[in-house]
Amino acid sequence: MCRTPSFVATTQGAGISNGLALTASAGEARKLHETFGAHISAAVRIFLPSDPSYATEITQRWTTWEAPSQIGTIKPATEKDVATIVKLCVENDIPFLATGGGHGAGTGYGKVKGALNIDLGNFRRKELPTGRSPCVGLVGLTFGGGIGTLQGRCSLIMDALVSVRMVTARGKIVVVSEIRKPGFFWALRGAGGNFGVVTSSTYRVFEATNKGKFLNADFEYAGCSSRVMWELIKAFDDDMPAELSVLVGAGPLEDA
Ligand SMILES: Cc1cc2nc3c(=O)[nH]c(=O)nc-3n(C[C@H](O)[C@H](O)[C@H](O)COP(=O)(O)OP(=O)(O)OC[C@H]3O[C@@H](n4cnc5c(N)ncnc54)[C@H](O)[C@@H]3O)c2cc1C
Repeated sequence: MCRTPSFVATTQGAGISNGLALTASAGEARKLHETFGAHISAAVRIFLPSDPSYATEITQRWTTWEAPSQIGTIKPATEKDVATIVKLCVENDIPFLATGGGHGAGTGYGKVKGALNIDLGNFRRKELPTGRSPCVGLVGLTFGGGIGTLQGRCSLIMDALVSVRMVTARGKIVVVSEIRKPGFFWALRGAGGNFGVVTSSTYRVFEATNKGKFLNADFEYAGCSSRVMWELIKAFDDDMPAELSVLVGAGPLEDA
């Protein structure tokens, strides 16, 4: 079933809204309409930056820093929609970016200009305890490794990945796993966002220890204590208990 998207082709919008650098001209809006309107399923929704619901209906980015600029957002409802959207983007030379949990942060995002945002919010079916922040997207987290409080016992999240279904740049749906496409599977776990759009992922799960409860403690050190801190961490090199997870981050402190 096809539908006519609800946006108006003459809509214009520009500005910054909840972390998104937004740009959409009337021409781009018309192009989106013409490109996708006749091919997507009835449940797909398209949002233009000028839509009042742009800040509420689509996944918001966690940070405004180096935000990608977007001509609009499309929210596919099915895997077939994703395949169609990717294929049409490639055929029509429309840059696109998949968004899972919106917690990606890095200078690369700011280089994405005038892209169609493919919001995968409709693909969140199950929630599992993963890293320390439940709002982070599971696939995005896996692609970067996936550190967390259970990493000593269960390893990184990417090590628990069994397989993914993904849409390639040609709009083909493939299953990638250690058995089906081992080279591809290896590459996904560290650089996955560059290879396709994942529509589902399957993981190995572990029995929860201590009824799923754990103790978390954050320590903040001034830069001048850096040597002492690293030496302390090094002391665990040979016999760090699997139950202990140490995550180290560096950054400016407000009072420093
Ligand atoms: C507050 C906060 C807490 C964090 N905590 C942790 C933590 O505890 N452990 C940890 O390991 N990391 C953590 N991170 C880092 C986080 O895992 C990465 O930033 C991750 O890339 C975020 O994924 P996302 O889906 O939320 O973000 P997005 O910005 O939606 O996606 C990040 C990247 O993955 C791609 N991507 C996302 N979903 C898909 C998909 N389905 N198919 C193809 N590409 C996709 C996007 O295109 C983008 O390139 C944290 C980040 C923040 C901001």
